[in-house]
Amino acid sequence: MSNLPFVLPECSNPATVRLEVYSPADEPLNGSLDASAYACDAHTIDAVTAIQEAGFTARRVPMAPDTTRTCGHVYLFPSGSLAGNACPRWCDETECARRGEHRSPVADIDTNRPEPVIVNVVLVQALDDDASPQVAITAADTTSEGEPRSLTLLLSISQGYVLSNRMRLMTEAVRRDNGGLR
Ligand SMILES: [Zn+2]
Ligand SMILES: [Zn+2]
Repeated sequence: MSNLPFVLPECSNPATVRLEVYSPADEPLNGSLDASAYACDAHTIDAVTAIQEAGFTARRVPMAPDTTRTCGHVYLFPSGSLAGNACPRWCDETECARRGEHRSPVADIDTNRPEPVIVNVVLVQALDDDASPQVAITAADTTSEGEPRSLTLLLSISQGYVLSNRMRLMTEAVRRDNGGLR
């Protein structure tokens, strides 16, 4: 976040205020919504001052009740003018704004043999202020009537991590039983 045009106060307290940061524009709030900045009570005025001194407009809005952010946290909206580095490192950075989400390259679960179900896995993160990345597993096959169907499972990153370990242990147990042939 060091490339931001303003430096916000930071402390370890939970934020009590969210500040919408708008680009400079002729009319207040006509600029693009560039960021959400979070501040605790003690640092709200300093945060607003820092944003305004950089030529941006700060608009104080209520925190969502289920949101927890530390004072000084900044979220950059990918559609805004500060969004140059807003994509997470794993994002393929292709049309994130149009898709409404960051997405990693899709990994096909390719076994080099025909499988009845086609499976792929991808990381996604909605372009929402508070969205966390998720693991999306999609399975596609054909019904007995010949209709294509697919199902996507969205897992938290923690679930994806545990799932990958469980599956590795289970599949390795089967491979050992089969003498390592599969
Ligand atoms: Zn603070
Ligand atoms: Zn992206």
